Amino acid sequence: MGDRVHIREVGMRDGLQSLAEIMSTEDKIAWIEAEYAAGVREIEVSSFVPPKLLPQLADAEAVLQHAMSLPGLRPSALIPNLRGAERGLALGVPEMNFVLSVSNGHNLSNVRRRTEESIEDFRRVVARCREAPEGKRPFIACGLATSFGCTIEGDVDEDRVVRIANEVAEAGADGVILADTVGYGQPAAIERVFRRVIKDVAPLPVAGHFHDTRGLGLANVLAAYQAGCRAFDASLGGLGGCPYAPGATGNIVMEDTVFLFEAMGCDTGIDLDKLVAVREIVARALPKVALHGAIAQAGLPRNFHPLARAA
Ligand code: ZN
Repeated sequence: MGDRVHIREVGMRDGLQSLAEIMSTEDKIAWIEAEYAAGVREIEVSSFVPPKLLPQLADAEAVLQHAMSLPGLRPSALIPNLRGAERGLALGVPEMNFVLSVSNGHNLSNVRRRTEESIEDFRRVVARCREAPEGKRPFIACGLATSFGCTIEGDVDEDRVVRIANEVAEAGADGVILADTVGYGQPAAIERVFRRVIKDVAPLPVAGHFHDTRGLGLANVLAAYQAGCRAFDASLGGLGGCPYAPGATGNIVMEDTVFLFEAMGCDTGIDLDKLVAVREIVARALPKVALHGAIAQAGLPRNFHPLARAA
């Protein structure tokens, strides 16, 4: 049997936040239930941002509460700051992802703070979460946005990415997520940076978050995999997009990512046919939004047997 690879659905957060349409709470819950039935066990369900800023995610508490009721599901939420962490702690969310940008320009435009200040904020989030009673302490990952390029600064220095990954690990992160937020990354750089970060922060898990904005999404996934990464974010139908590139594709397509790994003999725990069928729920809920994906269009190869399942 091949390696176990974890694929987390992030379309409900990263995808929906970039759309003008607002998906109803009922549709989000139907989406979660259908993916859960397909074997998906990690879902970034929402983000604890002020509802005024992102009305698409104003129902974070209701959706998370439902996700937390499903046995074995690991729901997570993005937190932009300490207030977000407080909302997550109040609800008992098991996993939260704090995000800061490696690129100072991106961080300033996003949260009006320098990257170094956001690292201090992260320290405060970790300290606050550690006050939670034993057994109620959430897993706190730190996402490093713009790790492979930035729409404001262009190139991002690889040494700087590695240094910041070490700093957030030292600050108490339970995991690190390297994110190609704007789809500038290419496989050679991704393999180099993942190798260095995985080695430095071990035994902390390092996950990959890629966008397919310039068509290199799955190539980048494979490069990170070859460097030792075993956890990836993806979104159903590649939902999402890029606010800086209208019409561009969004996160890597979850169905195609599952296909990539299952075809190589890795075990994702996800049933591809059932996963592809979940698209109907999203298509019905968001009739004006284009869903991407090669497997959904072309179907699985004849007699496709994922090795992991046949073993
Ligand atoms: Zn993203």
